Parts: sequence; structure tokens; C-alpha cells
Amino acid sequence: MSYIRKIDPEIADAIQNDINRQEYNLQLIASENYASRAVLEAQGCVMTNKYAEGYPHKRYYGGCEFVDIAEDLAIERAKKLFNAEHANVQPNAGSSANMGVYFSVIKPGDKIMGMALDHGGHLTHGARVSFSGKEYHSVQYGVNRETQKMDYAEISAIAKKEKPDMIICGASAYPGKIDFKIFGEIADDCGAYLTADVAHIAGLIAGGVHESSVPYADFTTTTTHKTLRGPRGGMVLCKEEHAKTVDRTIFPGIQGGPFMHVIAAKAVCFKEAMTQEFKEYAGQIVKNAKTIASELINNDFNIVSGGTDNHLMLVDLRSKDITGKEADAALQNSGIILNKNTIPFETQSPFVTSGIRIGTPSVTTRGMKENEMKQIADMITRVLSDINNEKVHEEVRKEVKELCSGFPVYADMEV
Ligand code: PLP
Repeated sequence: MSYIRKIDPEIADAIQNDINRQEYNLQLIASENYASRAVLEAQGCVMTNKYAEGYPHKRYYGGCEFVDIAEDLAIERAKKLFNAEHANVQPNAGSSANMGVYFSVIKPGDKIMGMALDHGGHLTHGARVSFSGKEYHSVQYGVNRETQKMDYAEISAIAKKEKPDMIICGASAYPGKIDFKIFGEIADDCGAYLTADVAHIAGLIAGGVHESSVPYADFTTTTTHKTLRGPRGGMVLCKEEHAKTVDRTIFPGIQGGPFMHVIAAKAVCFKEAMTQEFKEYAGQIVKNAKTIASELINNDFNIVSGGTDNHLMLVDLRSKDITGKEADAALQNSGIILNKNTIPFETQSPFVTSGIRIGTPSVTTRGMKENEMKQIADMITRVLSDINNEKVHEEVRKEVKELCSGFPVYADMEV
């Protein structure tokens, strides 16, 4: 990347500093990952120059013969990887994938039913501040107060009462498995479309460690940059009967020219996700999350719903008398990067929160396994047990750097 330094040293410095930050801190944000060099290379390629409004072989611009190859490959691989009838790989983000689906089959003012933000749902699942809560009549479901898990009887009762036009399942901060078959039945019973937003768990589905939503949902939406470990972007998978309307809604409905460099990188990501190595990776993500959760429970922390079955967990810090905001800041100062997060039935504001969210996709990409997870849980425990002790932060910062140095990911990258 020597060109950037010559042209724009300020940006070169910012990039180099971010390489070092990613390399020498423990990255435990559940929605992030380290994309492979092949994905990064594709995402930084000359296809960024190309306008390709339309779809492969039906474009509004000339010169699309090579970007067509990239998009055809991305579509075919996405369909194969997720066993889907149709794939649209053009959404620029997970949010636009969801918008594309809603705009395809429901009208403003129709009723949508998604998981509440403070129970683990995403903004686009009907939150008041999002287009989804403004354009549509939004009703929300949450987790059960006792089990802190999805309560399908309760969800079914809300659906029967409210009769939504669209049900959305999937979450940003839910540590359990989601039963897509039951959601399919609930949606059928009330005549609603079912959208499964698997943004967080797409890599686990691709790797065969989480049940797929594709057989049960009318639409499956996802991002490609979380557990799937691809470039930043989104995708819609659907049944053939909805293919035309989804395609028309993504372009020209809500987007213009697709990001062809990102689509090329999505194709690379899907190829990587078809390998045996990726299956093992997906399995290890879950083993690693379970290890951190059980270590933290042994160290007297409360984990929402008592553990995890996927790549993330939520730590309820109320018994420790610290907020998510305080924990997040102290851990960041110790080289452990994660995010404060609301917990079910939260009483604090979203800027303060009572919890933190911990995810294992990135550390697993680095090759870390159960032993390293035990070390990480121990470091988190030490910081949170003496949260204002700068000496502990400094000690942990050193240990984090040492641990990260043993599992290089971008160490040889230079700008
Ligand atoms: N859906 C879920 C479940 C998510 O967790 C996210 C992002 O965190 C999104 C959608 C939105 O993705 P993006 O940030 O690419 O718009």
C-alpha cells in the first residue's frame, strides 16, 4: 500500500495505526471479524471504478463483461452455500437488505413484528428511530423474563393477536439458537411473511453449526462481514417466487450502481466459506464462546440466559455494581475491545447499559482456542474486579499484546 503514504500520509498513518490496533488488541466485538487477504484484495480492486446498474447480462452500461463474471460467481456461490433458490448480492449493507425485503412485499403502514432492540433485536426490526419503526406499524416481541430466552408460545400469542404482515426473526445480541421452523409455523398461522435476518450467525449457518433459516423463511437477509468473514455488505436470499420483486426493489428501488469490487469480494468470501477449514472455524467459534461463558460463570459473573449456543454472550453486570459503559472503558484501556450492551428488561440508557457483549469470531480467526479463551476470561475478570486500578489495566495490556503477538493476523501489513 505504498501509494497511499506518498499521496496522503495522514490517511496512511490512520490506516497503519488501525492495523496495529487490530493486531495488538483483543477484538471481542461480536459483529466484527478479520477478512482474509484475498477478500481485502478483491475489495480494493479496480472493479470499484465500474458502473454496472442492472444485473448480470442486463446492464445499463457497457464494459460489464468482467464484473458480470464476478456477480454471477457471487450469486451462484451464495445459492450453493445456503441452498437458496435466489440470491441478490447487491445490498450495500445489512440494513439495505432488510429495507429491500420490506419494500418488496409490504406497504407503508403495514404491520411488522420483530424483536425489541433492548432484547437483542436490530434497529431495522421495527425500532422507533429506524425507517422500519417509522414507515411501518411496529409491534415487538422480547425474551422471557425468567429464562431470558425466546418464548415461542408468547411470540405466537402476540402474532395471533396482532396479525402482522411481516414477522422478522434474527438478532444482534441473542446468545441462543433460533428455531426458524417454529417461526415459519407462527408466520404461516397468521398469514405473515417471514424474514430471517441471520446477519450475526450467517457464518455459523454456512459452517453447519446453526440450523439454516432458508427452508423456513420467505426471505433470509444477512451481512457478509460478521461471522461470514467477508467484505462489508449485505445480501438477500429468497424463494424463486420473490426473486423478481426483490431484484427490482434493490435496484432501481433503493440502490443505484452496485459496488462491484465488494461483490467480487463477496464471491471470494463465499468460496472460502465452502471449505472444510471454514466448517472447523465455525465450530471453534462456538466452542470458544462457550469456554469464555463458563469461565466467567465460574468467576461469579451473571451471563444472560445462563450461557451461549453461538458466537456471543451478554454479561449482566448489575451484581457487580458496574455499568456497561464503565466496563467497556476499563477493558478498552486494557487492550480488550468489546461493546457495552443493553440486557433484557434494561433499566439504564443505551449509552450507559447494564451489560457488555462478548463475541469470539475475530479471536477464533486468529487461531485462538480454548486455552486462550481461559486466559481472556481471566483478564476480563481481573479488570472488572478492580475496575479503576490503572496498574491492573497496564498489566493486562502487556499480557494482551503478548497473546496477540502469538497469533498474528495482519502483522506484516505496512502502509
Ligand atoms: N441485522 C442485524 C441482525 C445486525 O446485527 C446488523 C448489524 O449489526 C444489521 C442487520 C445491519 O447491518 P449494517 O450495519 O451492514 O447495515
